[in-house]
Amino acid sequence: MAKDEFVFLPLGGSGEIGMNMNLYGFGPPRRRKWIMIDCGVTFGDLSTPGVELICPDPAFILEERENLLGLILTHGHEDHIGAVALLAPEFQCPVFATAFTAKLVEGKLDEAGATIDMRVIDLGAKLTLGPFDLEFVTLTHSIPEPNGVIVKTPLGTVLHTGDWKIDPEPTLGPVTDAPRLREAGEAGVLAMVCDSTNVLSAGSSGSEMRVKESLTKLIAELEGRVAVTTFASNVSRVVSICEAAHAADRSVCLLGRSMLRIVSAARDVGMLPEGVNFVDPKEAGYLPREHVLYLCTGSQGESRAALSRIARYDHRDLVLSEGDTVIFSSKIIPGNERNIFALINDLVELGVHVITEKDAFTHVSGHPNRDELKRMYEWVRPTYSIPVHGEARHLEEHADFALELGVKDAIAPRNGDLIRLAPGKPQIIDEVPSGRLYLDGKLLMAEGAGPLRERRKLSFGGVVAVGLAIDEHDNLAAPPAISIIGAPREAPAVANVQDDIAEAAEDAFAGLSRSKRRDDAAVDVAVTRAVRNEMTGIWGKRPGVAILIQRV
Ligand SMILES: [Zn+2]
Ligand SMILES: [Zn+2]
Repeated sequence: MAKDEFVFLPLGGSGEIGMNMNLYGFGPPRRRKWIMIDCGVTFGDLSTPGVELICPDPAFILEERENLLGLILTHGHEDHIGAVALLAPEFQCPVFATAFTAKLVEGKLDEAGATIDMRVIDLGAKLTLGPFDLEFVTLTHSIPEPNGVIVKTPLGTVLHTGDWKIDPEPTLGPVTDAPRLREAGEAGVLAMVCDSTNVLSAGSSGSEMRVKESLTKLIAELEGRVAVTTFASNVSRVVSICEAAHAADRSVCLLGRSMLRIVSAARDVGMLPEGVNFVDPKEAGYLPREHVLYLCTGSQGESRAALSRIARYDHRDLVLSEGDTVIFSSKIIPGNERNIFALINDLVELGVHVITEKDAFTHVSGHPNRDELKRMYEWVRPTYSIPVHGEARHLEEHADFALELGVKDAIAPRNGDLIRLAPGKPQIIDEVPSGRLYLDGKLLMAEGAGPLRERRKLSFGGVVAVGLAIDEHDNLAAPPAISIIGAPREAPAVANVQDDIAEAAEDAFAGLSRSKRRDDAAVDVAVTRAVRNEMTGIWGKRPGVAILIQRV
């Protein structure tokens, strides 16, 4: 009889930033029971034109659907919950989350018109799913209710940290439950599956309390209108900014959809402290400029977010000008540099004074720097380390660091690596299919699917469409119809590009034998080649060519 095994399988978030999806399995091979921890997204960029969201391809676990006992969400960041509304309805398993996280997921489900079996659990809750005894451990991070998960099985215990830092003075919510982590360490932790985001940064990430003090001082000194942008999900920061504003006798006005959404979720679960209140944009418009502070979305230069629209002079509720200040209480997420600098340039052009984390202490990260990682390893003392939540360079550095800190071995997995945690020394025993799905409009499509590849090509070379009407004698019934999209319609020394192309198409068709003219594929090949050559001659670039054949 096959023996039980305890396995770990990341399908997202290992070897890349974003879209975390982790599976734990227990049982003999092919009869394993599974749980999933987190189900996140990452965002599209210029290399994925038209695609806003990207999520892990769950094909592996969909095949194992009847053995998937539950989806556990550690916290409410998009890279951990963003794909729940897209994928979880198909998993058909219960989804477990604490109140604030559940609130955020419910908002997404409503938008998507999807339903799941959502179970709201308490901080520190314990639950049993088949062979897994699970326990939530309260940590600190940059969003309310961040949880690590202790995954206990008959073959050993894993601490799945989720995202965390050690904030000694959080401004909202409890401190890290260090006693419980130490206790778990004493009972024996086989492996720690741990956040690698900031492993390249020395020291500690810093405390929200210090940011609050700094912002309070900074805002008190400012004249004119003040707009502050931060990550909406960082409710403690949002509250800190509100309190700093009130201390400077400024009313706070929220601008941006996600700011309103998150604040309303925080209020719904009773998380907003007394005295934190807001004025609506109309009211704010009537306030003297030194008595108002706008809290805006858009710290990453997102073009449709409030701050970018303000900078473009395109926001109906706020116009900033000379003497006003914008504070970025945020960091530059790698990849967003261009958009953020463009945004700052636009603001500077308006005469606005811009303060970023380079100019003042306006931000701390939500992930553990090396000193914090060291402390966590000292508390938990895992036998093995499995770094996740990072690019290859983070994971490998984390593995080296964990070895320095005394773990027996460290395995830095990539998405799809199936690691046997026990019995025996942990090792990668298989690679399962993994990949990404793109949300294109309302359809999910596989990475490398035709439409996206074509769209990318079109963005380089456009397309020339050629319509051919062929009569019953296998002759053209009319001159070819030409449509040029995304390629030049005019060129020096060419009287009419369209006519040129039509002529090339006609000549290519005329050069075909009668039997070839009856064969659509042969017509397509010959005319495509001729049109592409003609256009390359005119333009020096190859467009895409589409041939439409109509037999009349
Ligand atoms: Zn994360
Ligand atoms: Zn997070």
